[in-house]
Amino acid sequence: MTTQVKHYIDGQFILGQGEQQISVTNPANNEQIAVINSATVEEVETAVASAKVAFKSWKEVPVSERARVMFNYQHLLKAHHDELATILAQETGKTFDDAKGDVWRGIEVAEHACNIATLMMGETVENVARSIDTYSYTQPLGVCAGITPFNFPAMIPLWMFPLAIACGNTFVLKPSEQDPMTPQRLVELFEEAGAPKGVLQLVHGDKVAVDVLLNHKDIKAISFVGSVGVGQYIYKTGTDNLKRVQAFAGAKNHCVIMPDANKQQVINNLVGASVGAAGQRCMALSVAVFVGAAKEWVPELKAALAKVKPGLWDDKNAGYGPVISPAAKARVLSLIEQGKNEGAECLLDGSEFTVSGYETGNWIGPTMFTKVTTEMSIYKEEIFGPVLCCMEADSLEEAIDIVNDSPYGNGTSIFTASGAAARKYQHEIEVGQVGINVPIPVPLPFFSFTGWKGSFYGDQHAYGKQAVRFYTETKTITSRWFESQISEAEHAAPNMT
Ligand code: NAD
Repeated sequence: MTTQVKHYIDGQFILGQGEQQISVTNPANNEQIAVINSATVEEVETAVASAKVAFKSWKEVPVSERARVMFNYQHLLKAHHDELATILAQETGKTFDDAKGDVWRGIEVAEHACNIATLMMGETVENVARSIDTYSYTQPLGVCAGITPFNFPAMIPLWMFPLAIACGNTFVLKPSEQDPMTPQRLVELFEEAGAPKGVLQLVHGDKVAVDVLLNHKDIKAISFVGSVGVGQYIYKTGTDNLKRVQAFAGAKNHCVIMPDANKQQVINNLVGASVGAAGQRCMALSVAVFVGAAKEWVPELKAALAKVKPGLWDDKNAGYGPVISPAAKARVLSLIEQGKNEGAECLLDGSEFTVSGYETGNWIGPTMFTKVTTEMSIYKEEIFGPVLCCMEADSLEEAIDIVNDSPYGNGTSIFTASGAAARKYQHEIEVGQVGINVPIPVPLPFFSFTGWKGSFYGDQHAYGKQAVRFYTETKTITSRWFESQISEAEHAAPNMT
């Protein structure tokens, strides 16, 4: 029996009534493991209406009680960590350790949401004028929505709904249709944590469901994570409809390798950060810029990449899993072909790689190009596969220019032993998240996830203090009480003797 993916609408787990059926497949062999009956327009509207009703009472729940739901949730997520990682690994193909990491990064955000009382504190100034005080409160917006990608089906939904809900909002989640079972389990556990019915809703589907949310008058804010084109569409349509929108989009992350860096550290880090998770990370290092003599390390890097073997999620020796779908595989293979045709040198070609017994899976072996230039498709496009593009620069200044000319600005790293080079890089680089001898500098949840340029459309970023600003309004109150009111109050007081 195929598993039927459930929506969670108005406090009930239900099968959708939409005509469209979407197959959820195991990327290791493309066999169907579940099916989604997508939500109808009316079902998505019911979810929003139910979230609107729930908002009226949820916003009145004291902040410490809301935090207690988050404490329960964090506890449940930890207790179900392995179970969640198993579901996630089966539908994404990620290795079990990588799947555990995906869940763990989400748990850390739920943990952060436990601090909501402190995070929501406003500001006060006494005596802004004689006897006048000004203070501010942060108040929730109403119904918020989240639209999430396939590549982190636990972490990214958890970037969004725990903080939005802890702030006092209600939330409609529309996760990726390619791996919906992990988000479904996250939602079941949220209900078990004591969240009242209606506070969180889950609808599955594709553009049809997204468009209802984008155009719905009762949705106040939209959080999106996904590809560039869709991110631009979501940002434009959402803001056109006068909603608050944060849209995290695609990336092309560079690392700069100085000749004074620790060679072994560079090679180990680059292997994991480029082809780990089959390169399907928005913070993957997909371009390596070797400065000066550092280019001599390329053969050793190639040898290290060649040792990485993709495999099944429960194979302890697997370096990473398959890419998510046949369409994703076809796209990556076509970019590899374009790289060859456009004159890059393909030192390592994973196009033909397969896993014995799983030949129908979406496998791509580690792939490495040198002599890559900024005009090539493999440089300009986000490949989102296990492909590393190598370039050379004569100086740190030239490397910085290459990175700053990229339209994207999600993450970058520099490997060096020089504090001065690292300081120059962190100061001049036009990228929102910078690693110094750290390959994937994703900030922990007490900071925010701060992609720049074409990797982010909006103002306030995910988690940290910025997410609380995104999911709240500030109300500023200026108050004056008159001395004469003290004696009036005394007269008005009942005589207790
Ligand atoms: P995607 O854009 O295809 O899908 C993301 C979401 O949008 C899904 O829920 C999908 O159903 C919906 N969607 C797809 N097409 C749509 C359309 N035409 N109209 C409305 N909604 C639509 O992205 P993906 O392939 O699932 O995820 C991979 C992408 O996400 C990569 O580009 C990656 O860089 C990016 N990403 C970015 C970050 C970040 O923080 N910047 C993090 C993770 C992933």
